[in-house]
Amino acid sequence: DSRIERVKSLIKDHPDFPKPGILFRDIFPVLRNPAVFQELLDVMVEQVKAKAPNVELIVGLESRGFLFGPSIALKLNCGFAPVRKKGKLPGEKESVAYALEYGTDIFEVQKEAFKPGQSVVIVDDLLATGGTMKAACELIQKVGANVVECLVVIELTDLKGRDKVTKPCTSLITY
Ligand code: 5GP
Repeated sequence: DSRIERVKSLIKDHPDFPKPGILFRDIFPVLRNPAVFQELLDVMVEQVKAKAPNVELIVGLESRGFLFGPSIALKLNCGFAPVRKKGKLPGEKESVAYALEYGTDIFEVQKEAFKPGQSVVIVDDLLATGGTMKAACELIQKVGANVVECLVVIELTDLKGRDKVTKPCTSLITY
């Protein structure tokens, strides 16, 4: 897909960010180019339509999942809900703890955003070890909804994150 090639050409590599030995893939140059950003959103919408035609809610992961999720949801005429780090969301919450390199973090959702059995697609920018996506899937399951698809722009295949995520997972660009 030539649209994906144009997206890939704008992703900028940053060696040793945020710490030595990490090669960070920066997606923000894509968002600075409206024509290519639009092409990326078009492809993401097509993927959701193909893989999860019955989707009822798009869930975006803090924070770069928020850059794509709402635009995709609008195009599909369905709602959007955020998964956020602990303490950011008001009201009744469900939460899940997940392991980081050092220690743990907690993800939260607002319970009122979900209906039992609802078909959910989770969106994020990048799949690395898969710990983030796995935790998000567990959280959505906890509120009684049904993750039908996980969609990321970039997958770092060496880290085998896909093996950790038990739900169907689509990536547009792999390294
Ligand atoms: P994982 O839990 O799969 O190891 O890490 C995925 C999460 O870390 C995603 O939410 C993603 O935003 C962030 N992340 C890790 N590495 C990178 C990177 O190189 N580029 C970007 N844009 N995000 C990254």
